Amino acid sequence: MNYKSDIGYRKQILTRILNTIIVHENEIVSALKADFNKPEFETVVTETSYVISDLKNTIKNISTWAKPKSVFPFVLNIPSSDTIYKEPYGKVLVISPWNYPFQLALCPVIAAVAAGNQVVLKPSELTPNTAAIIHKIISEVFPEDHVSVIQGNAEVATQLLEQRWDYIFFTGSVAVGKIVAQAAAKNLTPVTLELGGKNPCIVDETANLQLAAKRIVWGKFVNCGQTCIAPDYILVHQKSKSQFINYLKAEITNAYGENPEISPDFARIINTKNWTRLVKMIEPDKVIFGGQYNNETNYLAPTLIEENNLDSLIMQDEIFGPILPIVTYTEESEIDSIIARYEKPLGLYIFSERKKFCDTIIAKHSFGGGCINDTMIHFSNKKLPFGGVGHSGIGAYHGKLSFDIFSHHKGVVKKATWIDLPLRYAPYKGKLATVKKILNWL
Ligand code: NAD
Repeated sequence: MNYKSDIGYRKQILTRILNTIIVHENEIVSALKADFNKPEFETVVTETSYVISDLKNTIKNISTWAKPKSVFPFVLNIPSSDTIYKEPYGKVLVISPWNYPFQLALCPVIAAVAAGNQVVLKPSELTPNTAAIIHKIISEVFPEDHVSVIQGNAEVATQLLEQRWDYIFFTGSVAVGKIVAQAAAKNLTPVTLELGGKNPCIVDETANLQLAAKRIVWGKFVNCGQTCIAPDYILVHQKSKSQFINYLKAEITNAYGENPEISPDFARIINTKNWTRLVKMIEPDKVIFGGQYNNETNYLAPTLIEENNLDSLIMQDEIFGPILPIVTYTEESEIDSIIARYEKPLGLYIFSERKKFCDTIIAKHSFGGGCINDTMIHFSNKKLPFGGVGHSGIGAYHGKLSFDIFSHHKGVVKKATWIDLPLRYAPYKGKLATVKKILNWL
């Protein structure tokens, strides 16, 4: 079968992977549990169901997305018919991270296959059980010369990047994103870079504080805070601070009980290296909730920090763990200057009942995407582009856009031969005035 030109075959193979994922769902859940104690609920909601829904949507729409699209011709070219053809790039490399190790590996692969490409996937070495089940599923479904999985660490990724690719899709850290961009530049290979950043979460004095606390606790501590679009730090109005902190504490306890270490719903830090990095960020005298840890299990409790020093370690880089610094502001101008200290974030959240305030923040600040009065849920709408800007990434995907980024859009004009207007041809003598009139009229 020709996966490049045969849409029927692409649909068939995507249906096969859909069914295979459903058959292996329990194994996927167990793999994520083994990798970092990810609760079944979170795996089903944020990994398997997400991928299944993405597959169903892709299978349903692939014929429409792949169809050549007619567009209105440029007036001076009439009579002509103008068409955009979607052409697969060819050989695609997908490098994925460990934090949503199933979803962030599979979704780009699905889109690349839907668009007719050949794919090599390099999943993260930090979630070896998930990498193994992904490898098994892909090998069961795809011929190796269509989609293959190469497991390994940074060294393996480096070797892969030395090869020539027609498209590279990378999800991971800003530092590695720069390495990928450099490698891609050697062959002018187009890239999508899905990176991270320090995501502000603003809570003003008009916000529904209890609901804000609930939604922020969910967004911050799901996946043990290891989410690229998790709120990184809070900017709360000084008038609301104390009440808001009380709500945050109550919501953490509601979600994970008095001792989150024994909660079945709280994951672990991925490895000792990250655990150590996170524990170093905690200054004990600033802890207002949580702060407990266990180095044997990479446990770190949901932790609230009252932070007034923007030069402290925790306010330098993306936290990527279950620690939430709370910074207080009094004047709105402080919000702008604090956000401006950092590179453009992947996500930004505003909790407020003031439309004008929200509109102003959105207009003033550049960020990948975000929510008003919630966290992270923009990720779930297939009609919204998902991606960063500046240091938080290049390009965006989800829904139809995922299909589009893995396709070269080839514009072709088919010109009629039964008529040929002489205006554009030399000699130009006597034609300029007429051409100017037409161009001014357009
Ligand atoms: P990472 O950059 O360390 O690793 C990502 C992938 O790159 C892994 O497969 C890894 O093996 C590979 N890699 C590591 N070093 C490499 C090198 N020198 N050359 C080539 N490849 C290399 O990222 P991570 O720790 O797995 O993930 C966490 C980061 O990813 C966070 O910064 C987070 O914000 C970001 N992230 C972004 C998104 C998004 O959608 N924008 C999603 C998840 C995670």
